[in-house]
Amino acid sequence: MKAILIEKPDDTQTVSVSEVSETQLPEGDVLVDVAYSTLNYKDALAITGAAPVVRSFPMVPGIDFTGTVAESSHPDFKPGDRVVLNGWGVGEVHWGGLAERARVKGDWLVPLPEAIDLRQAAAIGTAGYTAMLCVLALERQGVTPDKGEIVVSGAAGGVGSVATALLAAKGYEVAAVTGRASEADYLRGLGAASVIDRAELTGKTRALAKERWAGGIDVAGSTVLANMLSMMKYRGVVAACGLAAGMDLPASVAPFILRGVTLAGVDSVMCPKPDRLEAWSRLSSDLDLGKLEEMSTELPFDKVVETAQRFLKGEVRGRIIVPVTA
Ligand code: NAP
Repeated sequence: MKAILIEKPDDTQTVSVSEVSETQLPEGDVLVDVAYSTLNYKDALAITGAAPVVRSFPMVPGIDFTGTVAESSHPDFKPGDRVVLNGWGVGEVHWGGLAERARVKGDWLVPLPEAIDLRQAAAIGTAGYTAMLCVLALERQGVTPDKGEIVVSGAAGGVGSVATALLAAKGYEVAAVTGRASEADYLRGLGAASVIDRAELTGKTRALAKERWAGGIDVAGSTVLANMLSMMKYRGVVAACGLAAGMDLPASVAPFILRGVTLAGVDSVMCPKPDRLEAWSRLSSDLDLGKLEEMSTELPFDKVVETAQRFLKGEVRGRIIVPVTA
C-alpha cells in the first residue's frame, strides 16, 4: 500500500511517498480503508521535523483520517461502517492517516454522523473538531451571543476558519483576527462581522486593556493570547488551543482576579469519547456545509510533503483535504 513515510536513520529526518506492506501496520482491532486524510498544523510540524511531534520511527504521519471499516474485531464496528479518527497519538506514535490503510484501536474511532460524508468530515478534520471543542468550552462557561463579540485568532487558518463559521451560524458576532489583510473578504464570507489586524494583538502586553470581547478562541498563544486576555470583558472566557505564535504566555493574573476572566484549555488529542461524540454531532447540525466547502482545498497525496513547509509559514488558507483512496 501507498504511504508517506518519515524515517530517521541518523540525525536527519527523511520523508517520502513509499510502498509499504500492510503487515507492517501497527496492532489494532479495526482496519480502515482510508478515504481521506488532511493536513493540520501538527502534520506540517511532523513532516518538516520543525518540532518533535513524531516520537517513533519509521512513522506514517496524518493525525486524522476518514474512511470505511475493512475488518473489525471491535464490538462497535463492522465492515462498511464510515468512521473518523482524530488524535490519540496517531501520526505521532502510532501510524496515521497518510496511507491507504490504517489499523487502529476501535475505541479511538467515531462513527460518522449521517449528515456528513467522508469528504466533508475530512474537510472538518482535527482543526474543525478542535474549533467545535472551543465553541463548546465557551458555551459551558455561559458565553451566549447576547454577551458580546467573540474574537478568533488565526482566523484564516484551519481552526480559525471553522470557528468563525460555527460561531456566526449560532448568532455570535465574530471579530476575526488575521495577519493577512488579503483574506478579509474570505473571512466576511464565513460570517465574520469585523476583521482585525493581527498587529493589534502582537504589541507589548498590558496587565489590563480596554474591555472589548465577551469571549475568544485562540490558536496563537504567546502575546496574542496575553493581549486577548487583557482585553476581555468582565467574566469573559477564552478557549485556548494553539501555539502558532509561540508556547509562552507573557500575561499577568489581572484579567483573572480583577475581571473574573476564565482561560479554558482545549485539547483534542486525548479528549474523552463522549465529548468527541458531542462535538461531531454538533458539527453535523451546526456547520454550514456550503461554507465548509468554501474554506476547503484538495491537495494531491504526492504534494503533501512539499506543502508542509508553506503551511508552517501561515501561507495556507482554511482546510486542506488529502484524498488517499477516494
Ligand atoms: P493553520 O491552519 O496553520 O492556522 C494557523 C493560523 O494562525 C495561520 O493561518 C495564521 O492565520 C495564524 N498565525 C500564523 N502565525 C502566527 C503568528 N506568529 N501569530 C499569530 N497568528 C499566527 O493551523 P491549524 O491547523 O488551524 O492549527 C492552529 C493552531 O492550533 C496550531 O498551533 C495547532 O497546533 C493548534 N491546534 C491544537 C489542537 C489541540 O488539540 N489543542 C488541535 C488542533 C490545532 P492568519 O493568517 O489568519 O493570521
